[in-house]
Amino acid sequence: MTGAERQWPPAGGKAVREPSSIAFCAWHEAYSNTARPVRDSSGARLFACLSCRQAYDLAPIGDES
Ligand SMILES: [Zn+2]
Repeated sequence: MTGAERQWPPAGGKAVREPSSIAFCAWHEAYSNTARPVRDSSGARLFACLSCRQAYDLAPIGDES
């Protein structure tokens, strides 16, 4: 054993957490890193995760120009 621990992540390196990509999915009522803003049937702007967008056929808003 040489004890060379080269697999330890360097400080200040790649961030593990990406808070900006996590939002609260209003459909299954939990946080998801795949959530995108969508409009519900009443026109309110809510976040829905990928699974819920597929399940409820929700189109994400904000990407449209
Ligand atoms: Zn969801």
